[in-house]
Amino acid sequence: MYENEIANIVSKGNNEEIYTGLLQLTKNIMAERGRIEGKKKVYYISAEFLIGKLLSNNLINLGIYDQVADALKEKGKSMAEIEEIENEPSLGNGGLGRLAACFLDSIATLGLPGDGIGLNYHLGLFKQEFENNRQKEVPNPWITGKDWLRKTDVSYTVLLGGKKVQSVMYEIDVTGYDNKCNTLKLFDLDTVDDSIVQNGTIYFDKENIAKNLTLFLYPDDSDYQGQMLRIYQQYFMVSNAAQLIIDEAVAKGSNLYDLPEYAVIQINDTHPTMVIPEMIRLLTLRGIEMDTAIGIVSKMCAYTNHTILAEALETWPMRFLDRVVPQLIPIIKMLDVKVREKYQDERVYIIDHEQRVHMAHIDIHYGYSVNGVAALHTQILEDSELKPFKDIYPNKFNNKTNGITFRRWLLHCNHELSAFITEKIGEGYKKEATELEKFIAAANNPADLERLLSIKKEKKKEFKEYIEKKEGIQVNEESIFDVQVKRLHEYKRQQMNVLYIIYKYMQIKEGKKPKTPITMIFGAKAAPAYTIAKDIIHAILCLSEIIKNDKEVSPYLQVIMLENYNVTYAEKVIPAADISEQISLASKEASGTGNMKFMLNGAVTLGTEDGANVEIHEFVGDENIYIFGESSDAVIEHYRKADYSAESFYDKDPEIAKLVDFLISKEMYAVGNKKSLIRLYMELLTKDWFMTLLDIKDYIRVKEQVFEDYEDRKAWAEKMLVNIGKAGFFSSDRTIEQYNADIWHL
Ligand SMILES: *Cc1c(COP(=O)(O)O)cnc(C)c1O
Repeated sequence: MYENEIANIVSKGNNEEIYTGLLQLTKNIMAERGRIEGKKKVYYISAEFLIGKLLSNNLINLGIYDQVADALKEKGKSMAEIEEIENEPSLGNGGLGRLAACFLDSIATLGLPGDGIGLNYHLGLFKQEFENNRQKEVPNPWITGKDWLRKTDVSYTVLLGGKKVQSVMYEIDVTGYDNKCNTLKLFDLDTVDDSIVQNGTIYFDKENIAKNLTLFLYPDDSDYQGQMLRIYQQYFMVSNAAQLIIDEAVAKGSNLYDLPEYAVIQINDTHPTMVIPEMIRLLTLRGIEMDTAIGIVSKMCAYTNHTILAEALETWPMRFLDRVVPQLIPIIKMLDVKVREKYQDERVYIIDHEQRVHMAHIDIHYGYSVNGVAALHTQILEDSELKPFKDIYPNKFNNKTNGITFRRWLLHCNHELSAFITEKIGEGYKKEATELEKFIAAANNPADLERLLSIKKEKKKEFKEYIEKKEGIQVNEESIFDVQVKRLHEYKRQQMNVLYIIYKYMQIKEGKKPKTPITMIFGAKAAPAYTIAKDIIHAILCLSEIIKNDKEVSPYLQVIMLENYNVTYAEKVIPAADISEQISLASKEASGTGNMKFMLNGAVTLGTEDGANVEIHEFVGDENIYIFGESSDAVIEHYRKADYSAESFYDKDPEIAKLVDFLISKEMYAVGNKKSLIRLYMELLTKDWFMTLLDIKDYIRVKEQVFEDYEDRKAWAEKMLVNIGKAGFFSSDRTIEQYNADIWHL
């Protein structure tokens, strides 16, 4: 099919034209395929959809990728160079947004009616650049006209701060693997004006809502105007969502009283919470009584919790909401009164005594499902963080361990590995991921293990060439690739990895050289107002420079920080990784999905018993994962007793002190910023809220073991094999089947 069209397109002169031709062809085919239809639909509302580039994935899902790739090859071109033309939409931060994107792929692949609803941020999150070993944020425009957005004539009136604005809805088609399409709906305002952003920075007038509403995802919210803008964005998103949901249901025959038979809303983290009072408001405006409206809405909303970090559980001051959404205030107050009538426990109130509104509490009381995102995370929610709610609603709580789409994270990013798997066990695993398990028996012989190692080598070589071209960095492809890529946050403990680098650097200086050279690869953006996170990036870049310029050390150790880590970069670095660093403080990482991508691509995890690492450990067994550090129970106990003191670890142990002290050494000062380095040093020494010094010794011990075990190539290849074979559970198809069976009932 489509031979002529494809031949026609690839014979065009330049890559730009080929890209636009393929974009148009793909859109046409998706339109022909048609929509997934059904009476009931899930609306996945999320402030973030980190969808990545779409061309290759759409071609794979439409079943014409190989045909296009072969046609390009005949013309002496590659898919990779065409992909370069496409911009990556930067509509997300990290895991939470990427999860939403994987879910859309799986919902469509399973043939379920389900759309994403979010915002069309013109300049995305931000683009990260490095200057003087520090992070700099610049705008990340991605909308070119030659992208996947389609403007619709759907438009709603939304009340922002008492003023009416008129929205516009854009759509991006989401094709399932070998299936029809759903859509991602992104709302926007025609009045938004990219030119108010100050040249080359991410700063703009935060007051003028009509001009700035959808400029950036998470605009700096360290000040009042920034926080107000966040609330405007959230309300704009959910008011449009609620109006759309009602319209679509009514068009299908709903009388509104039966709305839950037509629509289920999955609330991704607390950002879309206002959809609950907004939906209630809209129903009462259509003549439904308040109590009845509350009952209807409570039967259609389900909430996913993504974190137990207190700072991330949103609370908004009543007076902020009063300015942005005065129309919701009576409803929120009413929802709170109803809670207070039933339960005399301040911990479950919606409005606390400081007049702050706890968004998660609205979701839990007025939704019918609350889920965590990995077994351990859900357990912690039930046993401690949300225990008062679990006591009230024992049956609302459930676990849905996260997953990743294998189309993007295997078929697309690792053609070599997926071709090998297909050769061994057939195509079945592409739709039924647990069939991957057959690969373990099928490939467990010397020749196949060799093949696994040679595929890894090939992906390392590809990565080497990519980063050389993109950033001008030379990497030793024969070295061990030890990779920690994820958002920068103290709980993820990149700073612990920094201390390990210092350890290794000192060892090499003392003549203790690693048998195989090591390349430590980082990728991470820090939130613009998160000072310590930026200090950690600074320390990594300083170490990178020191080691690069040290002739004694550089043949054995290299430190790389990828600039502007995003989905595209993830697709290049993960298939090349030998070691997957998942070293969060136990109890703090809700699930992680990076860990799953690495496993699927044959990297071995070095991690704590945290998030989905716990489940990965159970699947692969002790032999095929490296676990270290304090347990989550022990950590929770330390917090409860407030008995952890970084300073005492530093004072007791000169080996630890030596590593921390290096942060403020003359070597570091020579390449870095003294103030930033001292700040990081003091943080580690006097606060260390995420207990780096508690686990550092165990981390070093186990990491040394990993490097030693790497030398036995056959044994290592067996570990790779088991990790790939056991990854089936972590397919987002499985996750979505569970959401549907337990929550959505589509
Ligand atoms: C998967 C992914 C993440 C999430 O990584 P974690 O290690 O689970 O935090 C973040 N950013 C990008 C670009 C990703 O692809």
